[in-house]
Amino acid sequence: MSFGKRKQLAEPASLTQSYARLIHNHGPISLLQYMGEANARYYTSRDPLGHAGDFITAPEISQIFGELIGLWLTDIWIRAGRPEPVHYVELGPGRGTLARDALRTMKRFDLLPKVHFVETSLALKDLQLASVPDATWHDDLSTVPTQGAILLVANEFLDALPVRQLVRMETGWRERMVGYYQDRFLPVAGNLPMDAAVPEWRREAPVGTIIETCPGAAAVMQETARRLAEQGGTALFIDYGYTEVQNGSTLQAVRAHEKVDPFEAPGEADLSSLVDFATMRAIAEDCGARWLGTIGQGKWLKALGADARARALGQMAPQHATALWVAKERLVAPDQMGELFKVMGLAGKDWPDGEAFAGPAPGVEVE
Ligand code: SAH
Repeated sequence: MSFGKRKQLAEPASLTQSYARLIHNHGPISLLQYMGEANARYYTSRDPLGHAGDFITAPEISQIFGELIGLWLTDIWIRAGRPEPVHYVELGPGRGTLARDALRTMKRFDLLPKVHFVETSLALKDLQLASVPDATWHDDLSTVPTQGAILLVANEFLDALPVRQLVRMETGWRERMVGYYQDRFLPVAGNLPMDAAVPEWRREAPVGTIIETCPGAAAVMQETARRLAEQGGTALFIDYGYTEVQNGSTLQAVRAHEKVDPFEAPGEADLSSLVDFATMRAIAEDCGARWLGTIGQGKWLKALGADARARALGQMAPQHATALWVAKERLVAPDQMGELFKVMGLAGKDWPDGEAFAGPAPGVEVE
């Protein structure tokens, strides 16, 4: 079976051409549409991960990442009384590496969940099939079974969902749109007043202020929280983001491991934005989930024993010990991924607290 084989009868027009024509005929398009279609095109046509691709993610850096997630899920599942049936649900599983490492670890503790992948990219589904052959694929959460506890994981998923931006002009709030002038895309203010879309407490702001929201991330959070409330289970959202509400655009584009202009070559670079973890928490709690905490990835992994695991792996393969340690450091060091990346934990109301959200115990594992 192959997902990729179904596609592409003819080379599609480049997104630059389609957008240029659309904007020429109908005027500027919203940033939300620009980013949404650009990423859909980008992800479905390639494997963007790894050294040869555009960016690298935690599970591709070290197996410790997926293993410790598997361990965390096992621990909370055991303390919740080993509910069955149980589903492992991963949103945007990339190459399936995190799932493979997490599921291998869970198996050691007799946790053998059904596996559900929410993925839209044909290219990545093929790679996921090779990593986890018995998974079931879904286009979104709506078709994931509604019976049984869920153990949900999403690493660098929310940041890929399109954002809407509102900008404060002299005349009030407007949506940020994308126009096309002299063969270039560039942001422009829309014509329609958008004041009603801005919460009252944020409305008074200096001209030029930008407010960014992510409707897709909000929808995912609502559905996840409702399911946790109704079915039981837990969820880990791991992403780069901030924990206090802030203003400003965080849209960025990355290509071949370099930051590039998000308005150049849509569909050819990875577009992402920082996750607003404060809003994600508020939505999840409103929809009935319990918030277990939001903490830097480095502290969370260290509290779960990342250092000890790196050392143990190094003893098993002494020729790789240094590389294993360096890879682990990349995940946990505050000046690398350790602080910018956050882990947010959620659970059903009857589920226990999660490990590691308080960080490592003082004095433990000082390296
Ligand atoms: N979690 C993986 C991959 C992160 S890249 C890792 O850590 O390595 C983002 C992932 O989300 C890709 O698998 C991409 O195809 C998927 N994705 C992006 N937008 C999506 C959408 N709207 N629906 C489902 N999957 C999406």
